[in-house]
Amino acid sequence: MKRSVEDIDLKGKRVLMRADFNVPLEYGKVADDFRIRASLPTIEYILDHGASLVLCSHLGRPGGEVVEALRLEPVAHVLSELLHQGVKNVDDCIGKHARDAALSLNPGEVLLLENTRFHTGEKENDPDFAKDLAEMGELFVNDAFAAAHRAHASTTGVARYLPAVAGLLMTKEIEVLSRVREDPKSPLVMVLGGAKVSDKIGMLEHFLNQADALLLGGGIANTVLKAKGIHVSASLVDEKSLETARQMLENAAGKLVCPKDVVIAKEKDAGADHRTISVGEDRIPDGWMILDIGPRTIAEFEKRLADANTVLWNGPLGVFELQPFSQGTMKIAEAVAGLDAETVTGGGETAAAMQQAGVISRIDHVSTGGGAFLKFMQAGELPGIAVLQEKEVQVE
Ligand code: ADP
Ligand code: MG
Repeated sequence: MKRSVEDIDLKGKRVLMRADFNVPLEYGKVADDFRIRASLPTIEYILDHGASLVLCSHLGRPGGEVVEALRLEPVAHVLSELLHQGVKNVDDCIGKHARDAALSLNPGEVLLLENTRFHTGEKENDPDFAKDLAEMGELFVNDAFAAAHRAHASTTGVARYLPAVAGLLMTKEIEVLSRVREDPKSPLVMVLGGAKVSDKIGMLEHFLNQADALLLGGGIANTVLKAKGIHVSASLVDEKSLETARQMLENAAGKLVCPKDVVIAKEKDAGADHRTISVGEDRIPDGWMILDIGPRTIAEFEKRLADANTVLWNGPLGVFELQPFSQGTMKIAEAVAGLDAETVTGGGETAAAMQQAGVISRIDHVSTGGGAFLKFMQAGELPGIAVLQEKEVQVE
């Protein structure tokens, strides 16, 4: 068990907190505030317990230099609205100006530092940069689960210079995901979709024995269908993973539930000509592609899900971003949200899909992690978690 912010006397302390504010921006505004909202419990806890708070995060990939469009100012706006209080914002994350702003905070006040990736030292995990950043606080709270798979200065480096503990979101992610990973209440039904099959093989290997059923959609289903010898035409297939798919079919055929019917289209476009066909019976015309699961498959998935005590879902079942191909993902999201089972989802686009379906509050845990979620599910550990203190250790 990792030591958490709740195990520390925060009164009068200046806390440096790493959050994951790597949010999508559109026209200079935050387009999806899911990750910001997810960090609120920790922020409010710290402020309510008499500490001042210095927040830091990366945003996008500025490549070690200042990129105007990747400043954190839009995040400061959203934060101050959600917290109902002012959030100070400086134009760097280290240096005199930032340090002066941090040192002048009163208990209950919040400062948001500038994008850590404006410095090359962030990704390089440079000790001098990490030390400068560590000077912003007296205690390090890591709440950025979604960035914990990266050993960067703000996720691991600062822990060399400050006592480091987990935030409330980090603690919840570790607790829920570890339980599902190590001791899921059976039957465990997994829903797997999305585009990047090869990224998911590690997680799949961990769960193949434990899962009672794997409901497949998206590119992963296409890849398995192709491995079965079905003509998938121009559908998204991960050619590199065909061999793994063949092995899965050999070792776990009974668990794999492939789509019986699919929605195919001429183009990946909302206005494209599309229709529903039966897999294996109707031939997919040349150039056409599978973009969603069909109604019979949705019904079959719903039936399988009804028996589950644990549901773990990663990867949208179709191109949910386009209305004609969103049905599979939206209907299954609704079905999962209505179950009594422990329901857990993870993945960048999966979280966006849950948001779109309006089910976030009815799913037990929607992980904030994309890559971090997949890596944690595979390995059970991440660099940004490993550097945090264990519960038994005393620091004060
Ligand atoms: P996550 O981020 O949740 O792990 P991925 O990154 O693996 O998920 O994949 C998400 C993407 O997969 C979505 O943008 C979705 O449009 C796409 N996708 C799902 N099904 C298909 C399909 N049949 N063909 C092409 N793209 C698909
Ligand atoms: Mg993704």
